[in-house]
Amino acid sequence: MGVFDAIGSDTHEEVLYGYDPVSGLRTIIAIHSTALGPALGGTRFFPYETEEEALRDALRLAKGMSYKSAAAGLDLGGGKAVIIGDPDVMKTERLLRAYARVVDSLGGRYVTAEDVGATTADMITISTETRWVTGLPDTYGGSGDPSPATARGVIGAMRCVAERLWGTEDLADRTVAVQGIGKVGSSLVERLTKAGAKTVICDVNEAALQRTSSEFGSVIVATDEIFDVDCDMFAPCAMGGAINEQTAARLRCRAVVGSANNQLETEMQADQLAARGILYAPDFIVNAGGIINIADELRGSYDWRRAAQAVDQIRDNLRKVLDKAEERGITPNVAAIEVARERIAGIGSINLKRRGHKS
Ligand code: NAD
Repeated sequence: MGVFDAIGSDTHEEVLYGYDPVSGLRTIIAIHSTALGPALGGTRFFPYETEEEALRDALRLAKGMSYKSAAAGLDLGGGKAVIIGDPDVMKTERLLRAYARVVDSLGGRYVTAEDVGATTADMITISTETRWVTGLPDTYGGSGDPSPATARGVIGAMRCVAERLWGTEDLADRTVAVQGIGKVGSSLVERLTKAGAKTVICDVNEAALQRTSSEFGSVIVATDEIFDVDCDMFAPCAMGGAINEQTAARLRCRAVVGSANNQLETEMQADQLAARGILYAPDFIVNAGGIINIADELRGSYDWRRAAQAVDQIRDNLRKVLDKAEERGITPNVAAIEVARERIAGIGSINLKRRGHKS
């Protein structure tokens, strides 16, 4: 497929290719939508095998960011940048600064942040060449690591789901299977434990498993066994695509509520879960805590209390999506996409004050 076909199929606004032969920088920045504000999305530094694969990922992730921010009620559009290469081998100051100049050339239409293969320290380097960067550490006036905010949002979503399924938001004595106990997953396990829930965990990182299990009493299972755990909720907090045709058929839970992006391998799995009576809480509604936290940094002076209050809105956002799904007899996933598209079309069509801009 040609680049224009790829851009056009999901109505992206723009794709920018950046190249610096000295450092080896090859970057693609995809802007899906700026209808609600600047396109915000992280920088993914990853050894893509082909340029086509990198482009596809940038386009897919940029669209996801548009939906996530729109449905969260933020005045932000969606974008994503990818840098092609192995960060452990290729990442240099020169490459990051050359990349930052590509970001800067967009004049604020795209604002970057951390993602896979990029760190807070990289954001500091990027900030030497452009002001269109977020997720800086608090010592730089930024909002720092977004993971605790993301975990806070996931817990709120779990309470919303519990209320719907069992008539109470109380998570005490519920069992939650958590796939991946990295930055978000470990914070989630801590919060679940405080709420009185039991956790079953898996990860490929043995040391992290032992640490979490001894601290919070979590039961450890093998990575492939997590789909067979008899539990109330399954929380995918590792990589995307965890729920495919096979794993969706195996799950023994009442609901899926987790932080991972793009949890469903295809949209078919939303129907498959619904047919099995498993409530799927759409990932981009549930995991918006991180972007909501970062959006507060864009206001100019980050305030964690204000950010936390905004993250707590995720619960209401999810409730509205589930109501819409029930009323219309559609899956929550379809309802969530509709909510996002309606806001982009509705609010995006008025002459909105661009509050997301730092100017
Ligand atoms: P992370 O890299 O800190 O954690 C991911 C964990 O998953 C790691 O501990 C890793 O060892 C583990 N893992 C990898 N493959 C696995 C497998 N097959 N089975 C079990 N565990 C496996 O990442 P994170 O920041 O905690 O993010 C987790 C997920 O949430 C990602 O999909 C991310 O895109 C998404 N997300 C994160 C944030 C955030 O604020 N960090 C915000 C929105 C979405």
